[in-house]
Amino acid sequence: METVVIALGSNVGDRQQHLTDGRKFLEGITQESLEKSSIYISEAVGPSTRPFLNSVVTIQSNRSPLDLLDQLKQFETDHGRDPSSPRWSARTIDLDIIDFGHQKFESDRLRLPHPEYQNRLFVLLPLREVCPQWTDPINDKSIDDLISEAPELIIHRTELNW
Ligand code: ADP
Ligand code: MG
Repeated sequence: METVVIALGSNVGDRQQHLTDGRKFLEGITQESLEKSSIYISEAVGPSTRPFLNSVVTIQSNRSPLDLLDQLKQFETDHGRDPSSPRWSARTIDLDIIDFGHQKFESDRLRLPHPEYQNRLFVLLPLREVCPQWTDPINDKSIDDLISEAPELIIHRTELNW
């Protein structure tokens, strides 16, 4: 069984509810407990896009990383539908595997650790809450060092429940 770090993000519709739905789904698939961070709000990259709500959880999994990716993608698809529209709309929730038991892995569909997480304060700040002793699986940098080296971003911790 491995500890898995998953980042959640939403900028469409009821963002807090989407994160809550994602957390409940992950609670259903974890083998033991789930640890969750606070919700953060961060500016979106790109023009006229709503800010994102972001968070991080850890779960325990005894499946393979690719099986877990399939489960996450299926959940994203199931939750991408706008109930007011019969058509598929923009995805409402993004679930990224940041780390899977400190494994290094590269395939067409999956890279571990997540190739962009070091550049994303919206992953690093909630990750520090749930894994303060975190070190990068490739370069062994501490979470504080990763945060101090990450590109600037407008981001705030919220008191939102989820
Ligand atoms: P993004 O997360 O960059 O906004 P997507 O969620 O659509 O965009 O992901 C694009 C693709 O990235 C996915 O189809 C998936 O196969 C791939 N991918 C590679 N590594 C990972 C990872 N660690 N976690 C999640 N997806 C990943
Ligand atoms: Mg994704």
